[in-house]
Order: sequence, then structure tokens, then C-alpha cells
Amino acid sequence: MNSHTLAYAKTLDEKDRLASYRDEFYLLENKIYMDGNSLGLLSKRAEKTLLQLLDSWKTLGIDGWTEGEHPWFYMAEQLGERMAPLVGGKKGEIIATGSTTSNLHQLAATFYRPSGKRTKILADELNFPSDIYALKSQIRLHGLDPEEQLIRVKSDDGLTLREERIIDAMTEEVALIVLPAVLYRSGQILDMQMLAKVANEKGIAIGFDLCHSIGSIPHELHDWGADFAFWCTYKHLNGGPGSVGGLFINERHFGKEAGLAGWFGSDKSKQFDMDHTMTAATDAGAYQIGTPHVLSAAPLIGSLEMFEEIGIEKVREKSLGLTQFMLDCIDEELKDFSFSIGNPTDTSRGGHLLLQHEEAARICQALKAAGVIPDFRTPDGIRLAPVALYNSFEDVWQTVQILKRIMTDETYKHFKNERGVVA
Ligand SMILES: *Cc1c(COP(=O)(O)O)cnc(C)c1O
Repeated sequence: MNSHTLAYAKTLDEKDRLASYRDEFYLLENKIYMDGNSLGLLSKRAEKTLLQLLDSWKTLGIDGWTEGEHPWFYMAEQLGERMAPLVGGKKGEIIATGSTTSNLHQLAATFYRPSGKRTKILADELNFPSDIYALKSQIRLHGLDPEEQLIRVKSDDGLTLREERIIDAMTEEVALIVLPAVLYRSGQILDMQMLAKVANEKGIAIGFDLCHSIGSIPHELHDWGADFAFWCTYKHLNGGPGSVGGLFINERHFGKEAGLAGWFGSDKSKQFDMDHTMTAATDAGAYQIGTPHVLSAAPLIGSLEMFEEIGIEKVREKSLGLTQFMLDCIDEELKDFSFSIGNPTDTSRGGHLLLQHEEAARICQALKAAGVIPDFRTPDGIRLAPVALYNSFEDVWQTVQILKRIMTDETYKHFKNERGVVA
């Protein structure tokens, strides 16, 4: 059977052992959602736990901190433990807290200690802007100049990074390395294991941003020797807009003083002693700052159940199947329309694809008008994320067919080639 037909898509859906999870989600009516790498969809289980937590506030008031089905006081630690298998962390190495950017600030404040010759931070020129803004401001807080101290490793093709180049940049002047696990545009997965190994050998602290990788690919952060990591939970983990993020601290750093202290970083048995001398938690809990955002963490309680049932290896297996099928369909159906593939086509691709076209902005608008939700990344990128938990192979087939129709009929020309405010 041809590997890009509707019939083939249907046979893949029949064989899909995760297919039943589609019914767990609120799919948008008459839409094909291909944007789960920006904001995952709401699941019924996430809705349920959010409503449970709202109810605990309604019925317990202040006692919700310690009573009810999910006492608020322990939620961050419990969610951390439940995220551990997704990142390859050991007990106590993970905490649910903050946001990607605030967690990066915390971790840079903790691990970036410029001294002597070692003053630089190593990042890359393709990194997400917020990470770069945070790192530059951390450099400024030390009275140093970001133009001199922030190294951004260059990309040869504007899409991907070469690990050898990153390793070459790990000089004796580097105090800290911060890199993405999966690049947000091209979806390239960096070889975290190799990078962490070399950084460890050179005595440079290394941390990874897992925003586009957690819930999509497996990690073994502890075994790889990563010093730290941080992430958001509203992309592949489907925690909802602005849901509470997470961080990982390798247990070899347990007891290290947090750069940014606050009372929720306390040893839980001591926190309410209200002493002006802090007794910090001895694990990742120490890197919390203030009162946890309970309602923004609540959907995760339900959402993570599905990852626990399935296991991240199976999520990855289906994700690779979906993106391979999409690549095959694109290859066959869109060859006349000067698209190029911006993601790696081997298994160093993450959970989304990057299709490039000079008319990308208005092609995305035409896709939306035709019921497919992609996302646009300036200047010429269409990101498409078929998500293992709720997208089908038929969704993928339909998406490429709709794209082909838009190109054949030139309906994209009815739109302006510019981006919206959120795109
Ligand atoms: C999504 C994303 C962010 C967003 O950070 P927030 O603090 O959650 O707003 C940051 N960095 C990367 C790499 C991302 O993909």
C-alpha cells in the first residue's frame, strides 16, 4: 500500500495502541489541532483535577493546604516526583514550580558564579529569546557586559546546531552552559548525553531547557550528569495556559544554596517556625521561592496520569510514527510548491516539524481559515506538531491535503503575508 494515502492513514490508526486517548481530550470542533507544541489541549482528567482543587478552596478554605484529596502544601513535591520519569530524575531531584523563565533565573542565580577567568555563559544563537534575555540580565547583575560574556554558538544553516561546535566553545572562560533539549524552531534534539559528559569533564555547569522536549521525548538527565534543567508544562504536558513549570537539580548539588531564596524553599517541617534564618530544603524543593500557584498546577495532577499509564517511550514511538507519516505525505503531495523541510529528518527530530516557505505567514492564515491550527515562526516557518496523545494519522493526512489545496488554489493569496500578535 502506498505510504501516503488515506487508506494507509486509516490502517495506522487501527493499529495505534494510543488511539483511545484521543477521547480523553477536548478536541476543537471541526478543527485539526497541530499546535500542541505551543499549547497542549485540555483533557478531561486535567479539567477534573482543576475543578477538584477549586472545590477544595470552596469547601475547605485555609485548611485546603493540608486537607482534601490533594493538599496544596505538598503538591509541588508530589508533582515533581510524578514528572521524574519524564526527565530521568531521581527522588527529590524535581520540583513543580515557577515558569521556564523564572526557573532559568533561579538556576542561573544559583549556578552562575563568575570568578577569575571563568566568567562566560555559553548558549546558542538559535535559542528562544526569553532564555537569552534572562541570561543577559543575570550577567548584568554581576556587573558584567552581556556583549562580552554571553557566547552564542553559531548555526551553519540557521536551523540546527552541531554538537562539536558547542564542545569547541567550552573553553576555560566558560562558567555556565545553557542549551535547549529540542530547538523550538527546527525541532532538532541536541545530544544532551554527550554535551553533559564533556561539560562535566571540563568542570562547567550545564543545564537544559526542556520546554519542547518534556512529554515528547525521553530523557535520562540524572544518568547523563546534567547539572540542572527547567521547563514549562503547557506545551506537550497539556497543563493549560501558564501552568506551573518544573526544574531538575542533580542530587550531587543537594544542599547548594539557592541564588534566589524564599520561604517556600524551606524544609517543610521548619517553614512555619517563621524564623529569620532559613532552613532550606535539602533537595530540589530548595529552589522554590514563594507560595505555589495551586490552581495553575491543578490540571497537571490529571494530565500526568496519562503519561504514567502510557510511558514516555510509547509516546515517543507514536510521535515518530506521526511525524514520519507527515514527512512522507509532504514529500509526495507538496513537491510542486517550493517548500523545504527545516527539521532533521532522522531520529534527531523532536515532536514537531518545520516546513519552510517564503509565504509562510499567509499560508498559516489560510490553514487556520481552512480549519488546521499550525503555528507560524518568523520569518518563514510553519510548525506542525501532530501530538501522540490526541492526533491521529488521519489528522496528519488531512492536514497535508488541506495544505495542498491551499497551494493549488492559491487561496493563501487572499491573506497578507504578515504575522499576528501571537504567532
Ligand atoms: C515556551 C518556551 C519558553 C517560555 O517561557 P515562559 O517562562 O513559560 O513564558 C521559554 N523558552 C523556551 C525554549 C520555550 O520553548
